[in-house]
Amino acid sequence: MIDCHSILVENLECEGNLSEEEKKIKTLIVSTNREDWVHMIKIIENFNVDIYEFGIGLHPWFIKEEEYSHEEDINYLKELLIQYPKLRIGEVGLDKIRKTTFPFQVKLFQQQLQLASQYQRSISIHCVRAHGTLLMILRELNQQLHIEPPRGFFFHSWSGSDQITKDILRLNRIGRFCYFGISAKINAKNLDLISAIPPDRIITESDLFLNDRNRLDLLQSALKSIQLLYPKLNNEKIEENYQEFLGFQKNN
Ligand SMILES: [Zn+2]
Repeated sequence: MIDCHSILVENLECEGNLSEEEKKIKTLIVSTNREDWVHMIKIIENFNVDIYEFGIGLHPWFIKEEEYSHEEDINYLKELLIQYPKLRIGEVGLDKIRKTTFPFQVKLFQQQLQLASQYQRSISIHCVRAHGTLLMILRELNQQLHIEPPRGFFFHSWSGSDQITKDILRLNRIGRFCYFGISAKINAKNLDLISAIPPDRIITESDLFLNDRNRLDLLQSALKSIQLLYPKLNNEKIEENYQEFLGFQKNN
């Protein structure tokens, strides 16, 4: 199975408790704040687990109003991206449930998107009740880029309208690099939402902590929902989408 969005746990001690099936789940593990990045780097340096990919990012829930500390965070993020060329960016994004920090969220999201372009990294994006702003930012990025981005954009547990999904896919430079996450936790029952996404842009995700024992069940249940609409979209095809998002394959 593919899990394109699982959240970091402090150590991988839990690995020992995972079943053989769980150990085969190819997973993008994301982090949300500076403290997590430090744990993540420790994991990368101490474990040689090739089923995992890693993302570092500043998540909107961890953005504070004092702007100064974020500049340091962004600089540190940049250093880590340079030092660890295999790191992805995520999770980052916008969340209007935290209204007070929204202007800072926009700014930091844009900075992290720029870093993704600059260092050619795939990026995992969280968006809650801010899809209009997200589209506006993506349109700006689409205009700025003179060439197609070499790596993908993943909208995890996607909750945007049909129209926004179509508008994103239509962006002439970045649209074909956009992928959408389906999780049993948030959107897998919403077949209207899934039907707006072409099958070659769908990726399963758990949206759960890495040591959550429900991960496998929820991934299987998300895939079942997807297959109600796209019966031929099996695990192998989802994996192709995942690899393309990560930049391992490109079907030019
Ligand atoms: Zn999220």
